[in-house]
Amino acid sequence: MLASRTTMKALRTLLFAASAALAALGLGACPASDTERPNVLFVAVDTLRADRLGCYGNPRGLTPNLDRLAGLGLRFDDATSHAPWTLPSFASLFTSLYPTEHGAGGRLPDFRGLAASTPTVAETFRAAGFDTAAITNVDFLGPTYGVCRGFEHLDAVSFDSNEELRRAGATTDAALAWLGARGERPWFLFVHYFDAHASYDPPPEFRARFAEPEDRDTAWRFGSRAELIAHRQGRLPLDRATMTRAAALYDAEIAYVDAEIGRLLERSGALDPTRRTIVVLTSDHGEEFLDHGAWEHGHSVYQELVHVPLLVAAPGRLAPGVVRSPARHVDVAPTLCELADLAPPPTFRGTSLLGLATEPSAKPKNSLSEGAFLGPPQRAWRHGADKLIVSEERGLELYDLTVDPREARDRSRAEFARALELAGELEVADKAFRRAHGEAVELSAEERARLETLGYTDGVEKR
Ligand SMILES: [Zn+2]
Repeated sequence: MLASRTTMKALRTLLFAASAALAALGLGACPASDTERPNVLFVAVDTLRADRLGCYGNPRGLTPNLDRLAGLGLRFDDATSHAPWTLPSFASLFTSLYPTEHGAGGRLPDFRGLAASTPTVAETFRAAGFDTAAITNVDFLGPTYGVCRGFEHLDAVSFDSNEELRRAGATTDAALAWLGARGERPWFLFVHYFDAHASYDPPPEFRARFAEPEDRDTAWRFGSRAELIAHRQGRLPLDRATMTRAAALYDAEIAYVDAEIGRLLERSGALDPTRRTIVVLTSDHGEEFLDHGAWEHGHSVYQELVHVPLLVAAPGRLAPGVVRSPARHVDVAPTLCELADLAPPPTFRGTSLLGLATEPSAKPKNSLSEGAFLGPPQRAWRHGADKLIVSEERGLELYDLTVDPREARDRSRAEFARALELAGELEVADKAFRRAHGEAVELSAEERARLETLGYTDGVEKR
């Protein structure tokens, strides 16, 4: 199996080199015809914890459409995002680099975008002749930060308050409108849903099904602009009863997004094997509801923030299955390149995940999560099921995610030698990183004001 795949890869590389040489000689390459090439539908649900999906064990029935998608493709049980907030996490997904390496992220007023010289997966597909488009709903995925570079059509909505977003229904409509105008060329479409991000204010139908009983007939919501800023400035008390109610509204938002993704999959025909569409579903980070004493995201690298869903379906091309080995967001772009038979840019750190599906005993890859924009700097290093967290505030923490997936029992004292071993691995890896500082972004007064409505204020330092 390994030999045959290696041989195929070598053949593909050879064919690619030969066609490039022919093209250089002006003799014309023979790329796969457009009717043979796959399309890519890349769906991201902002702020979606893995444990909210039924296929990841949630009992509430929030995600029937995502669960169906999981059954048709590969479900990666242990997928990790590389940052606990939007800007650096999506930059990692699209560049196949860790935040330290791509440099996008930072803290207001020093947010940094992606350097123009860093290749993105969208640029790779666009250069190969795909129509590319992104439908996005937050400033970080707009034109200012460069993360969506390569998407020729960028429908990036910026809203003035976290209470006035473009909802999932309108987002799906925008995606379907773009798909409806496609011709013969293959396409790569990125669709970003922001509804599960605070504030939690689900449509009535989903509120009635999933909110706590006392909130089902009311308009109570949580995570308004004022509450988010107050929280980040340490002025918002968080009691468990309120967090339970907030989490139920968050669940209802997820159920609503799931219904809209179901409509997108249905109307686009993406799951029809004859359409040759690769569908990816993931999230940039999760959300905390007092799991480790705090709320929302951007402040830690515990699992509630970096354990994300990851589904990859390619009906007719990829056999369904469940992958339990750790998977990383940096591996997503190389996976898409392999499925579409495109050579990934040499800067990509990750490698295709398809091998994990056929070789469950393959050696797990280490993974890094970092780049909180709130609270003390911290990094997490995965080695198999072991997870080390290094922070200025708490020093070393060590967790065994096999027996302690909620990171409740720090083993760093009991197994100090193992903690030091992982810290050494992280140090070695860190020295090998080629660092980029990203690109300074000049925010307009309007853009700055919009970020402040999401709570990205200078005041975060007062927390
Ligand atoms: Zn986000």
